[in-house]
Amino acid sequence: MVKAIYPGSFDPVHNGHIDIANRASELFERVVIAVYDSPPKNVLFSTEKRVAMIRDCISDLHNVEVTSFSNLATDFAKQVGAKFIVRGLRAGYDFEYESEMSLMWRNLNPEIDIICMMSSLQYQFVYSSRIKEVFKLGGKVDSLVPERISAELKKAYKNKEL
Ligand code: ADP
Repeated sequence: MVKAIYPGSFDPVHNGHIDIANRASELFERVVIAVYDSPPKNVLFSTEKRVAMIRDCISDLHNVEVTSFSNLATDFAKQVGAKFIVRGLRAGYDFEYESEMSLMWRNLNPEIDIICMMSSLQYQFVYSSRIKEVFKLGGKVDSLVPERISAELKKAYKNKEL
């Protein structure tokens, strides 16, 4: 079975991520969206919450599953029997970061290959961090995240104020 993992922080998942998951599900027989348990940035949502939110948003993709991981992405890929790591590429900045990351992963395990998919035009400017910042400042993010995520953002920031 041709299997891939799609790792990331997904804090929270947005339409750019979902677009990549959709397209990867057509390319691979099975895709595991892998939510990184301890990313090197402050997260707004717990790992369990990030997993649950993605599950909710991709329930129509029958060959895609969601789970968390806390080890090296290459080790996690091997653990679940995936030979590929999928990454999304926005124009510009992402290329440098992702190419370095790919080289590191290839160095760690040359049997696993990295597939970078270009972000669709309408999601090129969509970042989880930017969504949180805009939302916090009262901006509209409805066209960038599924409805359920807008509601979760509202809840998360309301709780933070208490
Ligand atoms: P971010 O906080 O930048 O959204 P993540 O760690 O959650 O980053 O991203 C996981 C993967 O999804 C990475 O490969 C990232 O490049 C990709 N990705 C993030 N945003 C987009 C987007 N708007 N379009 C396509 N791919 C994206």
